[in-house]
Amino acid sequence: MKEGVLSVVGIGPGAAAHATPAAIEAIEKADLVVGYRTYIALVRHLLAGKEVVQTGMTEEIGRARAAVERARAGARVAVVSSGDAGVYGMAGLVFEVLRELGWKRGDAPRLEIVPGMTALNSCAARVGAPLVHDHCSISLSDLLTPWPVIERRLEAAASADFVIGLYNPASGRRTRQIVEAQRIIRRHRAGETPVALVKSAYREGERVVLSTLDGFLDYEIGMLTTVLVGSSSSSVFEGYMVTARGYANKYGLADGEARVGQRPGRSLVVEGALDEEREGRNGTRG
Ligand code: SAH
Repeated sequence: MKEGVLSVVGIGPGAAAHATPAAIEAIEKADLVVGYRTYIALVRHLLAGKEVVQTGMTEEIGRARAAVERARAGARVAVVSSGDAGVYGMAGLVFEVLRELGWKRGDAPRLEIVPGMTALNSCAARVGAPLVHDHCSISLSDLLTPWPVIERRLEAAASADFVIGLYNPASGRRTRQIVEAQRIIRRHRAGETPVALVKSAYREGERVVLSTLDGFLDYEIGMLTTVLVGSSSSSVFEGYMVTARGYANKYGLADGEARVGQRPGRSLVVEGALDEEREGRNGTRG
């Protein structure tokens, strides 16, 4: 019997050019391709002659289980997710099913995880360079996560000045979460903080809106939108949302020279900086 393969494949945001060659190869080699209807549609051009199992949003467990069983029985199976399959995608569920079945490394099926460009990356590219400094992502879906947990993460991310990417911000039925998220983040950030809404990046129906923390709720936000909330270092430049990495704190951007009291290759000198000289003496630095 031929060895079954289970490929968990991130296909990127949508356009063929943004799926990696490895992702395309995994799909091309598969006998069976499993995924949500919308994602299957995105890779339609690769599916000629293959068995395809497409399902709606609520049939995930059955779909993951079917994929694992078929691969175990010797088929080459590709489970596809948009973006990266390991970022709010099918990869987690595949592992839960494998664990429940008592699967061990080395057992059939052979497992292969193929990374993809996640929505955070593609949406960021559409609006400029918002993720240049520390950022995090939070899903506002409370279908599987208790709302108080999401609230706590929003509070922590907002107070620690991360750029925040909000996945699953709203759906037809879930409309209050994004309003609450705005309220929590606003307690820590200025109203004019840039906020970008990117709908269907690199897909048909793409829409990009650049707004502010006080203003963004006036625009349409749905299942296909990612919301990027700037930090205190984010600003708008020529219609782009850009987060400063901090070069200007240390160097003159006109001449590239270090500012008075700063040294290239050394920690930024500010109150509370780690004392490099003392670390050196203690032998913790080479
Ligand atoms: N695995 C996916 C995320 C799935 S969760 C990834 O890595 O990108 C679904 C959420 O992802 C959506 O609600 C939306 O917030 C975001 N998303 C996925 N594709 C997107 C796209 N092309 N444009 C904008 N947002 C997208």
